[in-house]
Amino acid sequence: MKIREKILVVEDEKSISHFISSTLSNNGYDPMEAHSGKEALSMISSYCPDVVILDLGLPDMDGLEILRELRTWSSLPVVVVSARTHERDKVEALDLGADDYLTKPFGTDELLARVRTAIRHTRTTSENSEIARQGTYTVGDLVIDYNKHQVLLGGENVHLTVNEFRIVALLGKFSGKVLTYAYIMKELWGPRADSDNQILRVNMANIRRKIEKNPAEPQYIFTEAGVGYRMAEE
Ligand code: CA
Repeated sequence: MKIREKILVVEDEKSISHFISSTLSNNGYDPMEAHSGKEALSMISSYCPDVVILDLGLPDMDGLEILRELRTWSSLPVVVVSARTHERDKVEALDLGADDYLTKPFGTDELLARVRTAIRHTRTTSENSEIARQGTYTVGDLVIDYNKHQVLLGGENVHLTVNEFRIVALLGKFSGKVLTYAYIMKELWGPRADSDNQILRVNMANIRRKIEKNPAEPQYIFTEAGVGYRMAEE
């Protein structure tokens, strides 16, 4: 029997929470709804969801506050939902330990992709975090060979610098998931990395020139404006 992953939908606007939960149940998940922050926190302990979809704009509590509290005792995957204009909230949520975000309004495909990615990454982290760093990652004509530290495009070796390879490797490891500029900077250049993203943007421009057919319309690494980068899913 197929395991139905439990998903807690935290959203005070009933029409939106209903849309999310019916989409989820039509696609084989087992959703539950919470309509306030307090209800969310108590349901997380009683219902034990596999993923939480958390709206940042709730009537009784700030979604970021819920996330902060949750992260003191749980690494449960959280996908935050917020309006298009609140880029800073998204970055803050990701830095507080949210796994991904959805921008309102969003469609069914985007919702399901984020949920799948969140579930996939919990499994790889909890089962064996080393697995994700070995073998190859393939998307379209692009192959990241983690053992040989190489990126191939249509079978040809792409000549990347060490840092360019590390950026591509990191995004590939978390494919489908957005990584913030700050997170990538910290992974590559350590906790004391400059908060200026200039070096990252320069590296990304070079990577795109080497791997994308049209760097202005990337098909492998997408820019999430004001937030970070996301690698296309396998
Ligand atoms: Ca709301």
